[in-house]
Amino acid sequence: MSRYDSRSGDPTSYGDRRGDSGFGGSMGFSGSVRSSLSRNNYEGAESPRKLDLDGLTPFEKNFYVESSSVTAMSDREVDEYRQRREITIEGRDIPKPVTSFRDVGFPDYVMLEITRAGFVEPTAIQAQGWPMALKGRDLIGIAETGSGKTLAYLLPAIVHVNAQPILAPGDGPIVLVLAPTRELAVQIQNEATKFGASSKIKNTCIYGGVPKGPQVRDLQKGVEIVIATPGRLMDMLESHHTNLRRVTYLVLDEADRMLDMGFEPQIRKLVSQIRPDRQTLYWSATLPKEVEQLARQFLYNPYKVIIGSPDLKANHAIRQHVDIVSEHQKYNKLVKLLEDIMDGSRILIFMDTKKGCDQITRQLRMDGWPALSIHGDKSQAERDWSSQSLKLARVL
Ligand code: AMP
Repeated sequence: MSRYDSRSGDPTSYGDRRGDSGFGGSMGFSGSVRSSLSRNNYEGAESPRKLDLDGLTPFEKNFYVESSSVTAMSDREVDEYRQRREITIEGRDIPKPVTSFRDVGFPDYVMLEITRAGFVEPTAIQAQGWPMALKGRDLIGIAETGSGKTLAYLLPAIVHVNAQPILAPGDGPIVLVLAPTRELAVQIQNEATKFGASSKIKNTCIYGGVPKGPQVRDLQKGVEIVIATPGRLMDMLESHHTNLRRVTYLVLDEADRMLDMGFEPQIRKLVSQIRPDRQTLYWSATLPKEVEQLARQFLYNPYKVIIGSPDLKANHAIRQHVDIVSEHQKYNKLVKLLEDIMDGSRILIFMDTKKGCDQITRQLRMDGWPALSIHGDKSQAERDWSSQSLKLARVL
């Protein structure tokens, strides 16, 4: 049984990956693990520890070749570009951003999908994140949903998969994306399906609240990319429907939300089953202390890239009105607003508690408004129904 075999029921843990890799002759490991692994310089890291790579097959993860036009960019041009697109970076040997798709050096099958999607230029996170990810280094990305971050990690993932040996029967995925909710997991899957189609990369989405059968069948057929919520994936591993022995590219999407939702124990268990010289991309909208601490334990010598101003700023394309009212005036004010703005279009109302969400929905429905609610205590079927209804603007 290999060191990271999950079949024991109590999966062997690698522990954390900090410190000197110690790879070399004595580890029986040579060549293709990059020198970036040799020392962790992640600020605040604890004392160096040995990285156990015993018996692991080397794999390729550096695919980046800087194009001549990127090389030609002066430091000033690079600074100006980053400033204009509100890109802040930290780390060693940071590659210059790519200002066009042509400069990334994506293979034709990926370029074909980008052209098909009709994209004009890389978003800020893609411009800086693609060269970073394609270099095979670990990455902390602070970017919101809507910034293009999914493709910032998925397109390099597709290149990564295509450079690995094909899956053998019984192999688990090569790329694992962990996400906090089914909704996000499905969105990621849609992008993976669209952009992975031309190179025939298979994916599946593993989440709770639905029967396991179809998900188990997908896993057993063999898929290169698994997008999963942590709880259901643990379940699948514990019942031996898949394993993480082939994972060399790990993504944690919306890490802050996963921690908020209490997934830390599952995430730790899952990550401990993945080979330590993997590439890890860690995404979060915010970087509070706990989220950064977890990143420190999972990442080696990472780049950090932050999109947007560190100061919270309003989007100027959106007109904002602020009304300050007392608690008992709120409902009437809301109804008045709805009467003013309701023209059959869709309206989102955010509440600060689940209970409040249910109460207002009930009250609105009693008053004849076609309201539905969605929150974490609803069953998956109810959540699906609500989000589908909103999407289709279904009148209820
Ligand atoms: P995300 O932030 O990953 O949720 O992406 C938001 C949306 O932007 C998705 O619908 C993507 O397909 C789209 N998108 C991603 N990259 C680009 C790009 N370079 N240009 C235009 N749209 C993009």
